[in-house]
Amino acid sequence: MRPPSHRFHGRNYRRGRGARPGQVSLAHNGVLFLDELPEFSRAVLETLRQPIETGEVVVARANAHIRYPCRFLLVAAANPCRCGYLSDPRHACSRAPVCGADYLGKISGPLLDRFDMRIELSAVPLADLDIRTPSEPSAPVAERVSAARKVQARRYSGSKEIKTNSDLYGSFLDEVATPDPEGRDLLLRAADKFGFTARGYHWALRSARTIADLAGSEQVRSPHIAEAVGYRLLLVNGG
Ligand SMILES: [Zn+2]
Repeated sequence: MRPPSHRFHGRNYRRGRGARPGQVSLAHNGVLFLDELPEFSRAVLETLRQPIETGEVVVARANAHIRYPCRFLLVAAANPCRCGYLSDPRHACSRAPVCGADYLGKISGPLLDRFDMRIELSAVPLADLDIRTPSEPSAPVAERVSAARKVQARRYSGSKEIKTNSDLYGSFLDEVATPDPEGRDLLLRAADKFGFTARGYHWALRSARTIADLAGSEQVRSPHIAEAVGYRLLLVNGG
């Protein structure tokens, strides 16, 4: 990761009068959470694409171009449609299915393609709110994440550019994330059937590498591929 290049009171700042780090730069090395994603204007959503790719944002001013770093984890939430009832069996969305298509259609395919994981959550009935369902406590999950990050730190200790699986690209990605033959076959079939872009294909590989690390598996296998592919299918066509 490149060192922060923004100095609020440095030379660049004075040259680019009026330029200030925005929300994406303030989220540098952290999480940027966008609630109700389709409510953001299309122009704002589309300007996210470049910073997601490059990890920096360029602010153009008459006398200078200012670069701010912005390596963030992007998390977004959205209702299935404007009224919110599209997938709720207890309510009827009066405008289904256009309500959902109109609403989620505001998120362009290229932006959606940049989300590694998409998860659909269903509404919890009021009567179930006080039912305690057994779930795994956070502490063991944190341990698993920490162990997976240690594995990655060891694997990439010789590389300056790559710190975690999300930084993988090119031949390095092939080297460490090529699945077993069954997994490779599954990924190729899924990519063909669901029309993955090259970006989608590579991100599925990176996600599968992480899923394998969390499972303590040195080799990426077909169950890891299946899980990663599953995270990419939802809303793949914006509806
Ligand atoms: Zn609706």
